[in-house]
Amino acid sequence: MKIEELNQELERRMIESKYAHKRPVFGQGKLNATIALVGEAPGGEEEREGRPFVGKAGKNLTEFLTSINLSRDEVYITNAVKLRPSKPSPKTGRELNRTPSADEIKFFNQYLHLELEIIAPKYIVTLGNVPLRAVSGLDLKIGYCHGRLVSGNGYENIFALYHPAAVIYNQALKDVYADDLEKLRELIDNGTMEV
Ligand code: URA
Repeated sequence: MKIEELNQELERRMIESKYAHKRPVFGQGKLNATIALVGEAPGGEEEREGRPFVGKAGKNLTEFLTSINLSRDEVYITNAVKLRPSKPSPKTGRELNRTPSADEIKFFNQYLHLELEIIAPKYIVTLGNVPLRAVSGLDLKIGYCHGRLVSGNGYENIFALYHPAAVIYNQALKDVYADDLEKLRELIDNGTMEV
């Protein structure tokens, strides 16, 4: 199956579901990439533009990729959840981003695995807890798994990174993130890394 066919199928499923009012944001990038990055879910800017990681977290992500000599064109970027999880602000009524619900994660899970099967990357880089769990099928914690290869759900090539937004909110993670990225670069270059 081609990725376009899978996207069309998912769009049809969404239209028939309780998520019919939501605009999907599909994965984007190189189709036979070595690296597939899996984020959590699109935010407001991603929903408006229809592309993953174009907002503030996207700017951070692009900077991190550049720091290990990877460009956005070389990788495939997607999210565990393809719609923007949102809730109205109690003050203004404007839509705010929120963490995806278990139901939203479940709705997109089968699609995520089919998508990863089509892209067949050498490494699946998960960004934060939500994609780490959605891909591995295990109740793992990013605090224990970051910077390491993880197996689960038949994959042996999941590389766990913190979500780039975590670094925006927690500057102490900056050095940890830089070390983890270095390990990812090592893995790409040598097929192995120091632990
Ligand atoms: N934008 C995305 O597309 N995904 C995230 O997880 C965060 C921001």
